[in-house]
Amino acid sequence: MIGARRTRYDISREELSGVLAGQPRYRVDQVWEGLYEQLAAPGELTALPKALRATLDEALPLALEVVAERTSDRGETVKWLWALGDGTRVETVLMHYEERSTVCVSSQAGCAMGCGFCATGQAGFDRHLTAGEIVEQVVRAARRARDDGRRLSNVVFMGMGEPLANYEPSWAAVERIHAEVGLSARHITVSTVGVVPGIRRLATEALPVNLAVSLHAADDELRDQLVPINRRYPLSTLMDACAGYLQAKGRRLSFEWALIDGVNDRDRDARLLVERSRSLPLPAHVNLIPLNPTPGYAVRGSSPRRVRDFRDLLREGGVNATIRRTRGTDIDAACGQLRATHEAVSASAVVELHPRG
Ligand code: SAH
Ligand code: SF4
Repeated sequence: MIGARRTRYDISREELSGVLAGQPRYRVDQVWEGLYEQLAAPGELTALPKALRATLDEALPLALEVVAERTSDRGETVKWLWALGDGTRVETVLMHYEERSTVCVSSQAGCAMGCGFCATGQAGFDRHLTAGEIVEQVVRAARRARDDGRRLSNVVFMGMGEPLANYEPSWAAVERIHAEVGLSARHITVSTVGVVPGIRRLATEALPVNLAVSLHAADDELRDQLVPINRRYPLSTLMDACAGYLQAKGRRLSFEWALIDGVNDRDRDARLLVERSRSLPLPAHVNLIPLNPTPGYAVRGSSPRRVRDFRDLLREGGVNATIRRTRGTDIDAACGQLRATHEAVSASAVVELHPRG
């Protein structure tokens, strides 16, 4: 099955040596640097003999084929919908900020976690991605950043899927991104809905990546509804795993909180969140995300005013909180949205459907 498919960014250096059997030794370095430093296809590596370039392009197929590419925010946000080799579809978003350029990658096609407010969760699970399919999203975005006169500086696992439910490939991708694309661990963020065994395992890894936990509710009753995995790993267990991660890594972690009108944006929610955040050895930073509307979830996001008030309540409680700048709402840049709308209606019609700021 998918494990057997080896795409361009799945193969290891050793496997590349095998592909280049019979060629001079230095070719391995040449091709490897071509792939990861020049971000080039073998066919573009003019130092290689022409016949070899063609052979390599064929032997090392790309994993991602562009189905749709959209830009918004005056070119500062680029979103791709890709088809994988078997036709499965996933998304990647590149965001240029003044001080950094961040790519948001998918770790699975779809997601089995079933969070009701999330477009990916609504669509269900297709399959895990391979490490190479994840790494290639980073490489393609890095190349685009370079073409835009920028340098890719950050990777966040906040696209489709739950990275800790696809642990080995996601971690192999992290290691490859670190070692070969050259991003430091502090510029890589893994976001999880709260898969506790995965968090515990992450704490044993050598690379101290940033951990973002999608909390969304600070009491079990509400969290059971918003995030079904909470029934398996309730808040006490999750907070214990978070504390363990902090102790192992000495890094602050962050909580993600999508603000949903009347559901998790009440004063009480802010109070409970302050308590949870401050119960950790280092208080968690809270990222507030105004909820993006999705077709399968009737409740609306909190008003901009309520988002600011909620942030202020957290700050008054001594918790560091920021509001995530929304990007690319007109191109459905939130998790799972481009695919969902691409499958439902024509993308241009969608721009008219929810022109939020
Ligand atoms: N599965 C992982 C990573 C992918 S989701 C996780 O859940 O953390 C990335 C982030 O987008 C999560 O914080 C998730 O809660 C958030 N998200 C999902 N749907 C959203 C929506 N409709 N509006 C705002 N944020 C959303
Ligand atoms: Fe999966 Fe994350 Fe969406 Fe939940 S929020 S369904 S874990 S991608």
